[in-house]
Amino acid sequence: MESTVKDIIIEKAKSSKIEQVDFNNLPFGSVFTDHMMVCDYKDGAWQTPKIIPYQPLTLEPSARVFHYGQAVFEGMKAYKDDDGKVWLFRPDENFHRINKSSARMAMPEFPEDYFFDGLNTLLKMENDWIKPGLGNSLYIRPFAIATQAGIIASPSQEFKFLIICSPAQAYYGGEVRVKIAEKFSRAADGGFGFAKAAGNYAGQFYPTNLAKEEGFQQIVWTDAKSHEFIEEAGTMNIFVRMGDKLLTCPTGDRILDGVTRKSVIALAEEQGIEVDIRPIRVSELLEGHKNGELKEMFGSGTAAVINPILGFGYKGERYELPVMTDSYATRIKQQLINIQYNIAEDKFGWRYEV
Ligand code: PMP
Repeated sequence: MESTVKDIIIEKAKSSKIEQVDFNNLPFGSVFTDHMMVCDYKDGAWQTPKIIPYQPLTLEPSARVFHYGQAVFEGMKAYKDDDGKVWLFRPDENFHRINKSSARMAMPEFPEDYFFDGLNTLLKMENDWIKPGLGNSLYIRPFAIATQAGIIASPSQEFKFLIICSPAQAYYGGEVRVKIAEKFSRAADGGFGFAKAAGNYAGQFYPTNLAKEEGFQQIVWTDAKSHEFIEEAGTMNIFVRMGDKLLTCPTGDRILDGVTRKSVIALAEEQGIEVDIRPIRVSELLEGHKNGELKEMFGSGTAAVINPILGFGYKGERYELPVMTDSYATRIKQQLINIQYNIAEDKFGWRYEV
């Protein structure tokens, strides 16, 4: 993607923090690189993007984002191969998705050339923060917030678009057992579950805390109308293996259109695994558990790539899943990682060189 932005304003950090960072002990999302990209929207237009030292923001206490939650974000990763080349994985998907999220939250779309030029420039400046080796990556968090002052419940006319970066080691989601939601919902028809909007995540914390008190790590969200259909696993898309078939629910108003989800579907189909994209009933999981057809469940998302689900709870009962020697989750995760790190051939054209 050729850049048309010639004039990103760059202010370099006086010194780098990198020497103080222990790259072998990086709690996810807690350390940030030396620089960030910032771009302001005012008078109906995005201004020139800037790359400046990573620093706190100064905002009016009445800024709309604090009161009405007008905010969207993305999550993506940069990977370094053994030759020192840096790669993104399907970044056009993240770019289009943040604009889809923005449109739903009455926020202005961000220009494609600003996004890619800003990101490329920033990643080149932070090259030393991207460590080679499987599992190491730089987690990238683009986000946009409503900054206009005034406690008026109407859309802001001023915004900030930022990109911050956090070095990450292999994200091990830990042993995941999930509670299938019986009462709470994450999203509803006509709502904005498909958007990566801040409020979607705030609303998940309380039910997830309750599930944690019961000894689960995550919630499998069910549809708001009947709670009979599963939708997502925490902040991941969900896959179920029944026999040799892979099932996942269709995306739509309520479900985030995950980049990992669509990549898993493509990889599975390529190797002849039948993938059924259709609503999945909780009762099918119970039935499949009973008759042995339910082989695997896993979540898919950028942070963990694929996170196997070891068991689930529903209406007071607990169900354990079998341990598979020929696990789809393990196989497809490895294939995805090999593409992301430039180890395997990129048949689908998913890699993007920085
Ligand atoms: N669902 C939700 C609610 C999420 O927040 C995420 C993480 N972005 C996903 C699914 C997985 O999406 P992706 O594969 O694009 O990271």
